[in-house]
Amino acid sequence: MLERNGYLTMMNFHILTLFPEMVMQGLHTSILGRAVEREYISIEAVNIRDYTLDKHGKVDDYTYGGGAGMLMQAQPVYDAWRAVSERITARGAAQGRVIYVTPQGKTFHQKMAQELAGEEDLTFLCGHYEGIDERVLEEIVTDEISIGDYVLTGGELPAMVMIDAIARLVPGVLHNTDSAMTESFCDGLLEYPQYSRPEIWHDKRVPPILLCGDHAKVDAWRLEQSVIRTRERRPDLYEAYCKRIQPL
Ligand code: SAM
Repeated sequence: MLERNGYLTMMNFHILTLFPEMVMQGLHTSILGRAVEREYISIEAVNIRDYTLDKHGKVDDYTYGGGAGMLMQAQPVYDAWRAVSERITARGAAQGRVIYVTPQGKTFHQKMAQELAGEEDLTFLCGHYEGIDERVLEEIVTDEISIGDYVLTGGELPAMVMIDAIARLVPGVLHNTDSAMTESFCDGLLEYPQYSRPEIWHDKRVPPILLCGDHAKVDAWRLEQSVIRTRERRPDLYEAYCKRIQPL
C-alpha cells in the first residue's frame, strides 16, 4: 500500500491493449495475484477494440505514404484512454502517467521501476502491428519506454515486464521487504551467490562462512562476492561502483 496524505491507497495499473486476456492471465499469478487479492495493487486491462467506432470492429488501417504493415488508429486508442482517465479522475486522483511501451523509448531499468512505484495510477499503452498513429501518442502519452533493443510483436509483454518490476516494489507486495533491498541493481551491484539445503549437493559444499552464524562476516562475504560478480559480469556497473566508493 502507498501512503498519501495520511491515507493508505493501493497502486493501480491500467493496461490499454488489444489482448486483455494475455496480460490479465500473466499478471494474476503467483506473487502479483496475491497482491491483487490483498488489495496492495489493482490491475485492469481495457480492450481498445471495445472503443472502435468502426462497425466491423476494426482498429487498424494502412499507413499513409505506403509501406508494409498496418497501424493502430488514433480514435479507438484515444477513446479507450479517455474512459480510463475519467475513471481515475472520478475517484479524485490525479490523471497519472501514460506510458507507451515502444522500442523507441528510453530503456527501462531498476531506478525507473523504483521511481514509478511511487505513483498511484499508471496507464500502459500497448502497440501492435506497425505501432500507433503518432497523433494520439502526442496527445496522451507522458513517457515512452522500451524494454530493450529488439522488436517484439506487441506491447503486452513489455507492459507485463514493467508492471512486474514496479509492483514488487510496492510496500506489502513482497512478504520480506528486505529481499527487494538486497537484490541486483538496488545498490548498483549484482547480487551475491545464494545456497539452500542440503549442505552438500553433487559434491559441492555451501561456502562454510555462510554456516558460521556471524552476521557481520556473512555480510562482508556477500558484499565481496557481489563486487567480484559485478566486475566479472557487468564491467559498466563495476566502474560506476568504484567511482561511487572512491573518497573525494
Ligand atoms: N514499427 C515499430 C518500430 O520500428 O519502432 C515497431 C512496432 S512493434 C512490431 C509493435 C509494438 O510492440 C510497438 O508499438 C510496441 O508497443 C511494442 N514493442 C515492440 N518491441 C518493444 C520493446 N523492445 N519495448 C517496448 N515495446 C515494444
